[in-house]
Amino acid sequence: MSNHLSKFKLPPLGYAYDALAPAYSAELLELHYGSHHQAYVDGLNRALEGLAEMRGKGDYAYINQLERDLAFNYSGHLLHTIFWRNLEPNEGAPPSGQLEFRIRAAFGSTDAFRRQFGAAGAALQGSGWVALSWETTLGMLLVEQIHDHQDRVATGSVPLLVMDMWEHAYYLQYKNKKEKWIVNFWEMVNWADVARRLENAECVDLALETQLPRSDAA
Ligand code: MN
Repeated sequence: MSNHLSKFKLPPLGYAYDALAPAYSAELLELHYGSHHQAYVDGLNRALEGLAEMRGKGDYAYINQLERDLAFNYSGHLLHTIFWRNLEPNEGAPPSGQLEFRIRAAFGSTDAFRRQFGAAGAALQGSGWVALSWETTLGMLLVEQIHDHQDRVATGSVPLLVMDMWEHAYYLQYKNKKEKWIVNFWEMVNWADVARRLENAECVDLALETQLPRSDAA
């Protein structure tokens, strides 16, 4: 019925389960990636199959539920995919070049950005993420508190760096010490990955005839 559909797959992690230890234990990484992320991939494929089945029958009675499932699972899959690439075994060089320039322009300094990002994570109510995102019309960085995987996201923003604040992301190792999880998150950030994503995101053009303030790098 839906053989023509491309299926989403769990993307390769890119490093071993124990590569981020002790900041992120092998047991937690395997559970988070192999079980939780896989569940979003499976849920996304199920939502797409459900939508295809719905179109085939011409019966749209369950469209609201399927669209909700699509947004939740697609966003969960995408955020985890970015999250794994945001992390690296060794603490990388701090933000530099265009990324540092954009951070300073938006937040004043890298320290001020980190304080806002960390505060957004520590204060987040319920399940969600904190994202450093590129806003595509004016061309600026934002810190967003994402609830679940898709609520309260600014449409037109592209996530560059994301921190998973769902309890499944840290509870096995950090219990209720979410501030400790945030401190150790910073030690694993792959800033070169964030810089690459910013470079690509800055090319997004929504054809709104607004001018992105480009080519003003440090
Ligand atoms: Mn997660």
